[in-house]
Amino acid sequence: MKDPDPRAAIPPVNDLVEHIRRACPGLTLPHELAVRAARLLAARLRKENRFQVTESDLEAVVGPLRKPGPAHVINATGILLHTNQGRAPLDRETVMAALDDVAGYTNLEMNLKTGKRGHRDVHFATLARLIWDVEDATLVNNAAAAVALVLSAVGGGGETVVSRGELIEIGGSFRLPDIMNLAGTTLVEVGTTNKTKPDDYADAVTERTACFLKTHTSNYRIEGFTREVTIAELTALGRKHKIPVIMDLGSGLSQSLEFPEVPEPFIEDYLKARPDLLIFSGDKLFGGVQAGIILGAKAAIQKLRKHPMMRMLRCDKLSISIACHQLVRTVTVKQNPFSRLASTEIAELETRAEKIAAAVPELALDVFRDQGYIGGGSLPQEARPSVCLSCASIKPDALAFALRTGNPPVVGYIREERFILNMASVFPEEDEMLIEALKAASHAARS
Ligand SMILES: *Cc1c(COP(=O)(O)O)cnc(C)c1O
Repeated sequence: MKDPDPRAAIPPVNDLVEHIRRACPGLTLPHELAVRAARLLAARLRKENRFQVTESDLEAVVGPLRKPGPAHVINATGILLHTNQGRAPLDRETVMAALDDVAGYTNLEMNLKTGKRGHRDVHFATLARLIWDVEDATLVNNAAAAVALVLSAVGGGGETVVSRGELIEIGGSFRLPDIMNLAGTTLVEVGTTNKTKPDDYADAVTERTACFLKTHTSNYRIEGFTREVTIAELTALGRKHKIPVIMDLGSGLSQSLEFPEVPEPFIEDYLKARPDLLIFSGDKLFGGVQAGIILGAKAAIQKLRKHPMMRMLRCDKLSISIACHQLVRTVTVKQNPFSRLASTEIAELETRAEKIAAAVPELALDVFRDQGYIGGGSLPQEARPSVCLSCASIKPDALAFALRTGNPPVVGYIREERFILNMASVFPEEDEMLIEALKAASHAARS
């Protein structure tokens, strides 16, 4: 008997269209779209020499239509700020309040008293003046954008003086010297990798000097025989030479937030030295929406507002609204989901982990103490006490895959041939979901 040609057995497009429609109950797929999806499905089968449509084929083709965009994931990596997992978790109440304000039309760029056009950052700036006692403020897409904007607006056409110990790479090919190139400012390096003194900056001053830049080395540490110029020393020098001082703080921990002790300076400490511009990230230790927040002197902020790059880097109305609501909550509620995770007691993690292990006896989960990390380019080495669950009863790859592709997806990691769930980054309200996901994955990984 001749083997059937599997190609010949691929269902006709009309049948596949039916498959697709049945896989999307509640969605009205336009005919052309359903046909396109059916052709994709057929191409998949043809490529793999198959003729049976599986659940996973349908999921691959119409999954994004059924559930568009990023999905909720249970982060069991133990890394609190994980860029792959969207960095700081957003506070639902804050987002909902913001959404209510800006879902329809808003006064984003209009002063309602005068009826005149205003800048979209005034809403944030008004709050920042009140809360941080700064002259002015603005915000852009992220801190990387803020650094590029500031270097272009303040440093552009002149020289930017930086310590050799602070020429950072943030990751994702964001290297300070490259950004300076892009911003049209000439990098003038001073000091050495481990030691920079105030005189090094002073000696570098010429008539072309546009600014002094100081960067918080948030993702590495230089230890041992070191000397760093403090922000207070640098702002004093700046005032003496009439040169603006820019501080790229990066991580941005606020004193207002209830947070465990970490070897990280506060935004408020840096503000005391009155740098002309202070930059920090909205979604690192500040624990909120992605943004590059810039606080500082009126003249310098005004320069940023008027810069052509501002038009490219500006935040959308929803981010601005969330940032405003979040700022108020930071000083009133003093907590956000990220700070709550970071403040969880080890005993509480232990109780929850034991409960989860007991609820899924089929996985024979071990509970043990370990560490979690703040992560996200902020305090990468800063370990937090944590509790983990590990599984030795199933092949770690299979379990990791089953959990990642489950609903909701669960992300853990594999260490020493074991699959591990680290509780430091799991919210208590996710425990029940995690138990259900583990039961389902145990079943899927064994079959
Ligand atoms: C992380 C970081 C940035 C970039 O912040 P994003 O908000 O991720 O763009 C800039 N500077 C420093 C010092 C940082 O640590």
